[in-house]
Amino acid sequence: MLAGRIVRIARNRAGRKRFPPNADCGKLIHLLRGCCQTDREKLVQPLKMRPVLKEMVWGGRRLADLLGKLLPEGKPIGESWELADHPHGHSTVADGPLAGRTLRWLLENHAQAILGGRELARGAAARFPIFVKFIDAADRLSVQVHPDDDYAAAHHGGEKGKAECWIVLQAEPDAWIVDGLRDGVTRDAFAAALQQGTIEDLLTVRPVRAGDFIWIPAGHVHAAGPGIVLAEIQQNSDITYRLYDWNRPGLDGKPRKLHVADALETINFAGEEPDSGGTGRTANETGLLIEHLADCHAFSVSRIQLDGRPWAAETGGAYVALITLAGAAHLVVGGRTMPIRAGDTVLVPADASEYVFEAAEKLTVLAAAPPGKAPTQ
Ligand SMILES: [Zn+2]
Repeated sequence: MLAGRIVRIARNRAGRKRFPPNADCGKLIHLLRGCCQTDREKLVQPLKMRPVLKEMVWGGRRLADLLGKLLPEGKPIGESWELADHPHGHSTVADGPLAGRTLRWLLENHAQAILGGRELARGAAARFPIFVKFIDAADRLSVQVHPDDDYAAAHHGGEKGKAECWIVLQAEPDAWIVDGLRDGVTRDAFAAALQQGTIEDLLTVRPVRAGDFIWIPAGHVHAAGPGIVLAEIQQNSDITYRLYDWNRPGLDGKPRKLHVADALETINFAGEEPDSGGTGRTANETGLLIEHLADCHAFSVSRIQLDGRPWAAETGGAYVALITLAGAAHLVVGGRTMPIRAGDTVLVPADASEYVFEAAEKLTVLAAAPPGKAPTQ
C-alpha cells in the first residue's frame, strides 16, 4: 500500500515553469523535444486516452453532458471504453508524441515501462489487466452475471473472468440497482423462475445515489436500473451472461440473446462472496480524502478527493489509471504537465515514479492500479 503526500514545491521540482511563457518559444521547444526524445521520454508522461464509444439499446446522451464526451449524433451511447485493450475495442493515446497509438501497441512495444516488472511477470502484457468504462444507463441494463477466471479459462480460451465495481456518478432520485439474489434462493428455484419469467421476484433491488460504490464479484447477479451514470473498473474481460432482459427488444427489434445455461453454472448460490478488500476512508487536515474502495486479486481502486491543494503519490513501480470524475486539475508526470477535467482518463506508466495533482479547484479522481498499489492514505 502506498502513501501519498501533500506537495508544496511540486511545481519547481516537476519543472513546470522551466521555460518562459512565450508561445513561439514554447512551440520551438516542443518541436526540439519531439525530435530529440528517446522512447523512454515519450513514455514517462501522462498518457491521456481517447475512448471507444459503444451504442447500446439502453444508452443515452449523458456522457456528453456530464463528462464532455463527443458523441455521434442521434445514437444511444451506453459505454465509453476509457481504457480498453480488447479485441472488441482499443482505446488510443489522445495526444502528445504517442498520439494515435493503441494501448495494445504500448504493451507490444513497451510492456515493462507501462506495466512494471511485477505485472509483467504476472502475464499482463498479453492483455492489459483492467478495463475502465463510463456507463450511461438511460434505460435499465440486462440482469447479468460474469464468470470467474477458472470458468472463463475453461469455456472461453484466452479470456479472464470478471470482477467489477461501480462508482455512481449521477442517479435519478428513484434510481435502483439489482444487487444479488434474495437470501436463500436456490439454483432449482432460480432455474424454475427463469422458465416461468418470474425472476424479478428473486432479485435484491436497492436504491442508489451519486457517490455509491458497488462491488460485484464474479458470480454475483446484477443490473443497473434506469437513470444512472457510473464509472466501471473491471478485470479485462468482455464475457457477460445475460439472464433476463426485461422482455425488451434489442437495437434490431429482436430480443437480445440470453445465456441461461452458462449463467446457472456461474451464479454463486452459496451466499458467501469475497468482499472488495477495500480498507475504507482516510481523511486528513489538509482537505485530502482517500477512500480505498477495492483491492482484489486483479486490481485495487481508491477514490481521491482534493480541496484545491496539491498532492502527490508514488506509483510503486506499477501502472496507475487516473479516472477524473469531477473538477479539474493539472497532472504532472515525468516533468510533463497536463490539464485534466471530469471525464478524462489518463494512464500513468509504471516507469514514472510519481504523479502529482496541482488542483486549483476541487477534484475527484479514481486511481486504479494492480493489487496493493492504489493509494490508501
Ligand atoms: Zn456486469
